[in-house]
Amino acid sequence: MTFEQLQLIPPILKALAKENYTQPTPIQEQAIPPVLAGRDLFGCAQTGTGKTAAFLLPIIQRLSAQQGRPNGKRVIRSLILTPTRELAIQISDNFKAYGSFSNLRSAVIVGGVSQKPQEEALQRGIDVLIATPGRLIDLINQGFADLRHVQIFVLDEADRMLDMGFIHDMRRVIAKLPVKRQTLFFSATMPPEITSLVDSLLTNPIKIEVTPVSSTAERIKQTVYFVDKPNKLALLIDLLQDKSIVSALVFTRTKHGADRVVRGLVKAKITAQAIHGDKSQNARQAALANFKSGATRLLVATDIAARGIDIDELSHVINYNLPNISETYVHRIGRTGRAGLSGVAISFCEQEEIPYLKDIEKLIKQKIPVVQDHPYPMAVPAAVAAPVQPAAKENSAARDGSAKKSGRRRWRRGSSHPNKQ
Ligand code: AMP
Repeated sequence: MTFEQLQLIPPILKALAKENYTQPTPIQEQAIPPVLAGRDLFGCAQTGTGKTAAFLLPIIQRLSAQQGRPNGKRVIRSLILTPTRELAIQISDNFKAYGSFSNLRSAVIVGGVSQKPQEEALQRGIDVLIATPGRLIDLINQGFADLRHVQIFVLDEADRMLDMGFIHDMRRVIAKLPVKRQTLFFSATMPPEITSLVDSLLTNPIKIEVTPVSSTAERIKQTVYFVDKPNKLALLIDLLQDKSIVSALVFTRTKHGADRVVRGLVKAKITAQAIHGDKSQNARQAALANFKSGATRLLVATDIAARGIDIDELSHVINYNLPNISETYVHRIGRTGRAGLSGVAISFCEQEEIPYLKDIEKLIKQKIPVVQDHPYPMAVPAAVAAPVQPAAKENSAARDGSAKKSGRRRWRRGSSHPNKQ
């Protein structure tokens, strides 16, 4: 199947050629024709499937076919609601790329940055608005954003939107939209709240499901290292001796954890930057730009901050902490191995995370191969270890001569003392 066969207009085909997209992805192939025909859509798809182009291309095509200025000024004809600032900016970048030969204007409305330029963009008039819910509500209430002319509404990453507590803001926004509209709804997972939202928002939708969460993991080379928490940083530094890890996205559980890892890496002369919710928008954009350009080798992120980061050709994902929600693991590793590339996902598992590992393996229906031969083996080998209290761990470690020895020796040589972790 080609993009030409999807009946896309020449300005879009030209833009796609410029992006070097040769073939539609499965979700694009299935979604574009019905969306062009005006149907509602429910897409069960996650980032990495090409879902953004699946909704943006038909939006560009449908809006380009109209004059679109009822009172001489552009009005918002499409609203794309998305949970995070990064994702909004990413969608906007994609829109500019795919719409570069179309005469459509867009704006991004997100929190954490000055409101003034956003007000001005709305006042000048735009065709497509890409927004996170909170700031959009503010601008609606202040009379800057008028959603009465919206024809196509996209709700992106709806499950994440609910996780982040945006349900009320989301409903407030939806209440401002015309009842007669086309709605495109995307969610990576299908919890019951999502099913009821789909039922209330969509009319006779086309349903498309691509790469269900458990199968994404199949094309990615995964390994797990059992390692005690105090040795994780030293193990990471040791692994990074491998120059084939040109760049990697590292996930930590907390913002403080991300900062700590970055400090440790920088001390070991490895370029790294953190990206999380405590950083200003500018700092996050700068960190992302440095990572994309190769100026920093490691980007250390929490799950929420990483959501929406779009990096082409990311080869390695490192789980410094395993997530307690198994689907999150699949989302994380799904950031590598995109667009047909094979990726590598390395996970560090400490005692307390062993139950998370078991849940993950249940979800992905495979055992993640364990790397036994590394310089920081767990003091109590994971296979025989039940989770133990820290004090008991010391005693058990003392009984296990070999593990203790290798661990201790490397701590002295490494840059961090276990108690400082
Ligand atoms: P998304 O799932 O929308 O976040 O897209 C994932 C990545 O795939 C992005 O980097 C897109 O630029 C890229 N992409 C989307 N569609 C195609 C395509 N048809 N061919 C090649 N790359 C694509």
